[in-house]
Amino acid sequence: MRITVLGKSPAWSDAGGACSGYLVQEDGHALLIDCGSGVFSKLREHCDYVDVSSVLVSHLHADHFLDLVPFSYALTYAPRQQPVPVAGWPGTAAPARPRLLAPIGAADAFRHIVSCWGQEGLIEDAFDLHEYQPWDELESGPFHLRFCEVPHFTRTFAVEVTDPSGHRLTFGADCSPNDQLVEFARDTDLLLIEGTLPRPERTGERGHLTPGEAGDHGRRAHARRLVLTHYSDELDPEWIRTQAAVSHQRV
Ligand SMILES: [Zn+2]
Repeated sequence: MRITVLGKSPAWSDAGGACSGYLVQEDGHALLIDCGSGVFSKLREHCDYVDVSSVLVSHLHADHFLDLVPFSYALTYAPRQQPVPVAGWPGTAAPARPRLLAPIGAADAFRHIVSCWGQEGLIEDAFDLHEYQPWDELESGPFHLRFCEVPHFTRTFAVEVTDPSGHRLTFGADCSPNDQLVEFARDTDLLLIEGTLPRPERTGERGHLTPGEAGDHGRRAHARRLVLTHYSDELDPEWIRTQAAVSHQRV
């Protein structure tokens, strides 16, 4: 499988960057994991949006799904999606309608958000929405998908993508330190894990990892490769890498 990081920003976008978005491709099949702010524009630099088969949302935080809005507008209003010829496009009887896999409660949440400007069905009409359950095992073209609930501020799911040769990508989504992700990612080929915080939350509930904690999760899971994500461009990437590497290699 080919993995493209479209956006790795935390909840506020990097300069010129995008929030959470990862394009996974194999044999002409395209799966988009998360669709945060700015991701739709980045997606279009790598892949035609009508060729995306499925979009998978890990959890209902803005930085992980907000660009479903421009994506939905494209699927709804783009000339080539219309049933009649428009501006050189021939018209189609089968407009693209990608599958949208999102956690329980997503339909209500999406309806609530887009109803603010009077388009309640925008996302559901544009996509074929399916709310997944934690125990679901789904197929997306050549990929097999599994889920693991991880602790965060809202219900959140790590995702495993396995290709036909058995190669595994584990995406940790957003999470506080936990054992579930370590078990889920055991011996994975690539663990894509957040390292959001320069230091642990000082007060209240924890919801994210430091780069050192991310590295520690990778070490405990025996992940073959570790890629840190969801950190700001206001942090030194070399410091992030070093922190994670020290924890990942510690025996
Ligand atoms: Zn989050």
